[in-house]
Amino acid sequence: MKTCPKCTTELEDAATKCVSCGFQLEEPQRTLTGKVIKWLFIAFNLAMIGWVMVGMGVFDRGSQSSALPRGTENAEGMGVTMIILIWVICNLIFGLVVWDTRAKNKALQESHNKIEE
Ligand SMILES: [Zn+2]
Repeated sequence: MKTCPKCTTELEDAATKCVSCGFQLEEPQRTLTGKVIKWLFIAFNLAMIGWVMVGMGVFDRGSQSSALPRGTENAEGMGVTMIILIWVICNLIFGLVVWDTRAKNKALQESHNKIEE
């Protein structure tokens, strides 16, 4: 048995919602979504780091660096700036979603702690 943190009504362990006041105890789907979004966020950042490195010519510069004219390096620089700009914008949008799901998970964790106390 567990107790509703809002109205202290005794509830079944499997209950996700308080039968008395309707307090939302658990949101399993949202927790899973939060995990998926977190991993997508990490994967996205790793992909962007790889893209920036390719844009900077990290992987093929070694053999060509001395042969490249200055104009080509400037074009590469512009490319990396664009990639980083896209990265920052996507991170802002993605970060908001991650922050949103995390905030809810934390609230859920706090309600669990209250039940245990
Ligand atoms: Zn309740």
